[in-house]
Amino acid sequence: MTPQTTHVFHRHLHTTLPVAVSGRGVTITDSQGRQYIDASGGAAVSCLGHGHPDVLAAMHAQIDRIAYAHTSFFTTEVAEALADDLIAHAPTGMSHAYFVSGGSEAVEAALKMARQYFVEIGQPQRSHFIARRQSYHGNTLGALAVGGNQWRRAQFAPLLMDVTHVSPCYEYRDRRPDETAEQYGQRLVLELAQAIDRLGGENVIAFVAETVVGATAGALTPVPGYLKGVRDLCDRHGILLILDEVMCGMGRTGTLHACEQEGVVPDLMTIAKGLGGGYQPIGAVLAQKRIVDTFAKGSGLFQHGHTYLGHAVACAAALAVQQVIRRDDLLAACRRQGEGLANRLQQRLGEHPHVGDLRGRGLFRGIELVRDRATKTPFDPALRLHARIKREAMTRGLMVYPMGGTIDGQQGDHVLLAPPFTVSEADLDAIVDRLAQAIDAALASTHA
Ligand code: PMP
Repeated sequence: MTPQTTHVFHRHLHTTLPVAVSGRGVTITDSQGRQYIDASGGAAVSCLGHGHPDVLAAMHAQIDRIAYAHTSFFTTEVAEALADDLIAHAPTGMSHAYFVSGGSEAVEAALKMARQYFVEIGQPQRSHFIARRQSYHGNTLGALAVGGNQWRRAQFAPLLMDVTHVSPCYEYRDRRPDETAEQYGQRLVLELAQAIDRLGGENVIAFVAETVVGATAGALTPVPGYLKGVRDLCDRHGILLILDEVMCGMGRTGTLHACEQEGVVPDLMTIAKGLGGGYQPIGAVLAQKRIVDTFAKGSGLFQHGHTYLGHAVACAAALAVQQVIRRDDLLAACRRQGEGLANRLQQRLGEHPHVGDLRGRGLFRGIELVRDRATKTPFDPALRLHARIKREAMTRGLMVYPMGGTIDGQQGDHVLLAPPFTVSEADLDAIVDRLAQAIDAALASTHA
């Protein structure tokens, strides 16, 4: 197929996209027979790699029984089993899963669930969300409004609800030399407290944050105590805490939920990507019992819903993914291989003159590129270094997730690595080798 003949909208705009024809394990093969190591799991999705026989078998079995039954008429055994499974392994107090088809839908549902909760309990004046500047929560209008990615928001700004954005937890850029990590975290909590006071705590619905930031700045981890401080502050004002674990959750950071490592339990949590591992589009909101009970005792209805909510084949895929992760002890593998990846990155890129920061947890690793290591000055955004790295990596048979995050309104260049939990030592060697070559080739191309 030549690019001119495509009727696929996004390919029409990206005419150089190769055509993926098969996927096995960590490798995707295109129509020219070229192979790519999927070092980003697509967008931190493919936690089991491609073509996993157990997931395919579970999907086939479900299709043979029933593929789809609308949720206003039926529940299905597989949706019930998946919800049981998720709740059995969820943070304390989570009692129900609300299924959707992806991350943005999960965030939209969480925002509306939080709002309706306060209407149900007689606090309809709560109408404001607080979120953080360095964050991405999805591309639908509500999710885009809580997100802080200026580049994605810019042209839609007049359509977006008014959200207050506070500073992200971005230790590499924002911790002062005279502060400990803990003091920095406390300063951020104080900033949030001041924002709440300005709005009036009784007017705020929720604070929304990714536990570990993904798509705007590769794998930004919170400093110790920061999210605990946020949790306490929210509790003091009766504000809900919504943690968005669409990208960092479902094992990606080495524990099933990233918030486990912070000792923090949210009121609502969004999950997607790794939930279905890319085998089916599926996401969910996990909700605390007291919120669900309020709906049950109140109006008896959540005023929301999509046609494909709880799709049976999507639930079957997600259930199989969770079962394989447990059976094969893949959270331990994620932690072990994550350390291996971090060590290789440190060895190969730790002293690189244009690598400012290496960070992350588990198999969720970020690399921040800078023009000058001493001053942390980013590259000129017009160079689009991150896009050049992606291109150079693809020519070397490597998929990495590039991003130009927003640093004080300026673009910074980041690369995110999120390979399948089944990645081997030899794969890790190849990933880091090809990535290092791609970074140098991309940098060289900026002088061309
Ligand atoms: N939240 C986070 C944290 C994400 O990383 C993403 C996707 N990158 C989304 C929400 C939106 O998910 P989706 O693209 O599946 O709608």
